[in-house]
Amino acid sequence: MEAIWLYQFRLIVIGDSTVGKSCLIRRFTEGRFAQVSDPTVGVDFFSRLVEIEPGKRIKLQIWDTAGQERFRSITRAYYRNSVGGLLLFDITNRRSFQNVHEWLEEARSHVQPHSIVFLLVGHKCDLEPQRQVSQQEAEKLAAAYGMRYVETSARDAINVERAFTELTRDIFELVKNGEISIQEGWEGVKSGFVPNVVHSSEEVTKGDRRCFC
Ligand code: GDP
Ligand code: MG
Repeated sequence: MEAIWLYQFRLIVIGDSTVGKSCLIRRFTEGRFAQVSDPTVGVDFFSRLVEIEPGKRIKLQIWDTAGQERFRSITRAYYRNSVGGLLLFDITNRRSFQNVHEWLEEARSHVQPHSIVFLLVGHKCDLEPQRQVSQQEAEKLAAAYGMRYVETSARDAINVERAFTELTRDIFELVKNGEISIQEGWEGVKSGFVPNVVHSSEEVTKGDRRCFC
């Protein structure tokens, strides 16, 4: 029987406060540009299926920081239980770009000896006239870290699908060739769900606060 999804990947989205993390997650999971009124009252996680090849689906569980990044109080478990992450800065805010290194160090220190597959994201690319970080400069930094770089806009829905899909494909390759494996007690990667055998589909969506499948 064909599984509804092959794997579930747990992703985090980090970066300075106001770079647009919550809006990017919502654009991807809800298909709209939603203003997040109170950044500290956040939904923990959002889910969406991604088709990486015809018939091959991955369920993404995407965790938002719910405003904790303001106080740098993100817990160790948040990092430890993730397989992938989007590391965001705002292309109109140079400071947020300078802080990318700190975010990466923080993530690395929390997940050792494991690692998280990161994608560097220059967000709010609809605001070209206010740009403070060039694409070349960001690409250079991403290359130095061995990451991909993509520029996104949640407002204008630019590259949002691409950002999540490329990261998902990269993680899938690592899982397929055994560089990342499923581990007991680790939430980063879980194996697929087979309908009518394990749960009813109702139970599957019950745990999710948001689902846009
Ligand atoms: P977070 O603190 O990183 O979660 O940031 P939010 O998602 O709450 O967004 C912070 C602000 O940036 C809000 O005023 C959003 O409307 C705005 N914003 C988010 N994404 C975009 C975007 O793609 N383009 C523009 N122009 N503004 C955005
Ligand atoms: Mg937020």
